[in-house]
Amino acid sequence: MHVESDRMVSEFREMEKKWQGEWEKNGIFNSEPDGRQKFFITIPYPYLNGNLHAGHTRTLTIGDTLARYKRMLGYNVLFPMGFHVTGTPIIGLAELIAKKDERTFNVYTKFHDVPESLLSTLTTPEKIVEYFSDEALNALKGIGYSIDWRRTFTTTDEEYQKFIEWQFYKLKEKNFVVKGSHPVRYCPHDRNPVEDHDILMGESATIVDFIVIKFVNDEGLIFPCATLRPETVFGATNLWLKPVNYVIVSVNGEKWVVSSEAFEKLKYTDREVYAIGEVKADNFFGKTVKNPVTGKEIPILPAEFVDTDNATGVVMSVPAHAPFDFIAIEDLKRSGELKKYGVDELEPIVLITTDGQECSPAEDIIRKLGIRTQKDAEELEKATKLLYKKEFHKGRLLNITGKYAGMSVQRIKDKLQNDLIEKGIAEVFYEFSEKPVVCRCGTKCVVKVVRDQWFLNYSNPEWKKNVLNWLDEMKIIPAYYKEEFRNKIEWLKDKACARRKGLGTRIPWDKEWLIESLSDSTIYMSYYILAKYINDGTLKAENMTKELLDYIFLGIGKPDRIASSSKLDVDVVEIIRRDFVYWYPVDVRSSGKDLVANHLLFFLFHHVAIFPKKLYPRAIAVNGYVSLEGQKMSKSKGPLLTMKRAVRDYGADVTRMYILYASEYDSDADWRKKDVEGLVSNLKRFYNLAKEYYQRDVEDIYTLDRWLLSKFQRAVKETREAMDNLQTRRAVNTAFFEVMNDVRWYLRRGGKNLSIILDDWVKLLAPFAPHICEEIWHWNHDSFVSLEKFPEYDESKVDFLAEQSEEYIANLVEDMREILKFVDAKEVYLYPAEEWKSEILEIAVNSEDVKDAMRKIMSDVKFKQMGKEVSVFVKKAFREKKDRRMVKFDEKEVIESSREFLENELGVKIILDREKIPEEKIKAAMPGKPAIYAV
Ligand SMILES: [Zn+2]
Repeated sequence: MHVESDRMVSEFREMEKKWQGEWEKNGIFNSEPDGRQKFFITIPYPYLNGNLHAGHTRTLTIGDTLARYKRMLGYNVLFPMGFHVTGTPIIGLAELIAKKDERTFNVYTKFHDVPESLLSTLTTPEKIVEYFSDEALNALKGIGYSIDWRRTFTTTDEEYQKFIEWQFYKLKEKNFVVKGSHPVRYCPHDRNPVEDHDILMGESATIVDFIVIKFVNDEGLIFPCATLRPETVFGATNLWLKPVNYVIVSVNGEKWVVSSEAFEKLKYTDREVYAIGEVKADNFFGKTVKNPVTGKEIPILPAEFVDTDNATGVVMSVPAHAPFDFIAIEDLKRSGELKKYGVDELEPIVLITTDGQECSPAEDIIRKLGIRTQKDAEELEKATKLLYKKEFHKGRLLNITGKYAGMSVQRIKDKLQNDLIEKGIAEVFYEFSEKPVVCRCGTKCVVKVVRDQWFLNYSNPEWKKNVLNWLDEMKIIPAYYKEEFRNKIEWLKDKACARRKGLGTRIPWDKEWLIESLSDSTIYMSYYILAKYINDGTLKAENMTKELLDYIFLGIGKPDRIASSSKLDVDVVEIIRRDFVYWYPVDVRSSGKDLVANHLLFFLFHHVAIFPKKLYPRAIAVNGYVSLEGQKMSKSKGPLLTMKRAVRDYGADVTRMYILYASEYDSDADWRKKDVEGLVSNLKRFYNLAKEYYQRDVEDIYTLDRWLLSKFQRAVKETREAMDNLQTRRAVNTAFFEVMNDVRWYLRRGGKNLSIILDDWVKLLAPFAPHICEEIWHWNHDSFVSLEKFPEYDESKVDFLAEQSEEYIANLVEDMREILKFVDAKEVYLYPAEEWKSEILEIAVNSEDVKDAMRKIMSDVKFKQMGKEVSVFVKKAFREKKDRRMVKFDEKEVIESSREFLENELGVKIILDREKIPEEKIKAAMPGKPAIYAV
């Protein structure tokens, strides 16, 4: 960076530290119930296995800006923050540091900015939590968030554990925590289920249930074909194996032929599994198996496209409905191999229709897309998806499917699956929707079916229905994300909530299990109310009985009895309850979009499960990610920009404003050094302008000043609108960049009274750049701008005429500049259009069509006498009336009063005289567009 902007940044940093100190000393963000309307905003607490980074900066800055805005609107705002440390990642990190793992040292010294000597001491989870919670606290204070710090905590606190125990008892009472066998993502190395937090790669993979249909050969070997579309078994013409080695495996006493990857996966299912031997797929090519549903004998054939790492590695071929199958058979025909395996012909068997026709839709789509060979995998994938979608939505089963004929494809899967399983000819095989899924420890995860494990029963239809009903009522920002939430809620399955390893709270009734880290962070926003009393020593873990929490959170029981059983004063019990009733529910939870699929869903489910409806969260706001110079950030691999480093290098206000302005809603923001530096100079200009003008006395007010006031009112209105919709980019653009443009014009035009907007401009910018605004504000005031009232739109200051005449001058400068590009002139003659043109234009604006206007005009004798010139102009007026506002000011007067500016600006002499202007230019002049003649 340039020396100049370095100096500015250090000046910013100094005032930032000063005002952070003042805010804290005066406790201006500590919130207590009072008579005002409350606004409770929360942001997911950060997980402390590293330093806070630009992703946190974005989410938290959005939240803080909203908190500051609401505070200035007059709300009593509560904005608290805690730290999340439960689960395995911190333990994993401690282990990696202890064994001096090279990659970890590299990432943590280079990207998390931890000095190497210090890093090597962080060998226990406790030390990591201590170090990173200090770091996080300093980073959050250093960027100036308006947090009530009396309410902070970490999730391993003894009191927090009491709170989690209470919550789990509540869930158990309602049968939302149950024991059962369920498929989970599992790390074979850690021997633990893995959650989103624990995953290095493949975080978005879900578990899908394939149906495995058992085709049998004459030796009794089972070929378990995995499919997501069991109905297509009626159209199977052959099986596919990849020409590699397969394994013969004993599965619950049956002999299965599966890929070696599938054998590994089968070990983690609840089946009894051992290997019998290896076998080459070649041995089976050309031989037949029996379709257990239709009884038909069909051949086994080779196909390169078979993915042995997908389910069983054994695939049935349905050429009528699967583009891959169709083209693979075509390839075999063409190469003569089909004959070699003793197969004469394989005719596609059509079993679904979408339009009443019964010809092969796979062939159809392949011809349409012009696909020629199996190697065209991308196009084939596209064809498969298109066809599947069409058949899923519109398809009906044909007569060939026997008793299922006429059923819709949408409804067949569950029915057929149950029927086939009941007959013993099919089973379920769980698989990831995408691969690979890799644990933080580097091991490839598998789907494990865990028996007798504790689950949150998210598939409970009643529970789900209540959540969906609430979703309908609540606000999601941006609104189009509601659909995303709805889908995710509908698909949410039961989730393992306990594990063997990690930091956290034990399941109170089954102490060998720990509650995993996404399940202990669902309703903790309510804990912020308690945290203040825990931190000041009023409330201790031993006071936190089930009865006390029932009373505080749910109003159950009698305060005097609860006071004595929890060994507290009855006043204390009542005050905490009063606080809770005042602050709850959460008014908005603002979060990154990565939490939509997990945390934010659980947040909704658990609130709905535990609290009465009036305490359900009111709104959720979702924002996108941050990249660095176009590169994706990664906490575990880098690159990463920590919050601390951004603030150190550019200052808190620049960092905040940049991240708010870079993007809004769910679009991603990109951190670009060049643009950040550009913002440093823009803020510096703002600061210098304030320095120059804020304490000046106001001189006489002219049209130009009224113009500035008027434009500023529009900015106030738009900024408020933008912030009411949480459109941060639009808000910063209006409040800062657009006002700055107006100010530039104002000064260029000779404006002297910038201070007439400065009080309000400083307030308008305070939520976005609070420190610099606090500094400037104090030059004229003793109060904190952070607590001032946000500017209100004042319509009486909107001056349409002043705006029009300034716009007129701006356009005139542009038009003259265009002309002067081609003419080396010393003098410019100007003359406005003749008066009668304005009259006609006004009639045109108020008429329905040309005919109507003409009738009105010709009834006026004055116009009638002018003849053709008028009728030609009426047509022109009509063509232009749409984009033309009526000029209501005296153009000559405006030109006259701006003569000095125009002459200075353009370096020519301005002469307001029509005599020398050629007649055709006078004729072409329009109201608002004077004739210009340069000589
Ligand atoms: Zn692992």
